[in-house]
Amino acid sequence: MKCAICRNGITEEGYTTVVLERDQMTLVFKRVPAEICNNCGEEYISSEVNKALLRHARKELNRGVTLEMLNFAA
Ligand SMILES: [Zn+2]
Repeated sequence: MKCAICRNGITEEGYTTVVLERDQMTLVFKRVPAEICNNCGEEYISSEVNKALLRHARKELNRGVTLEMLNFAA
């Protein structure tokens, strides 16, 4: 798709790293599937992936995790 930020680039499938912070917890998700603009580098994460990230974050929060690095598996 066309990038909504720079309006010049085209997004390509790739992977990114997402950091989520909640209260005192920091979660780092690696290899999160995303569409990345080949011009400005803006990252677009689908709502399904975003939902999965938040679901995971809630689970970790309940476990009392404060810092964790995870590999995201869609
Ligand atoms: Zn762009």
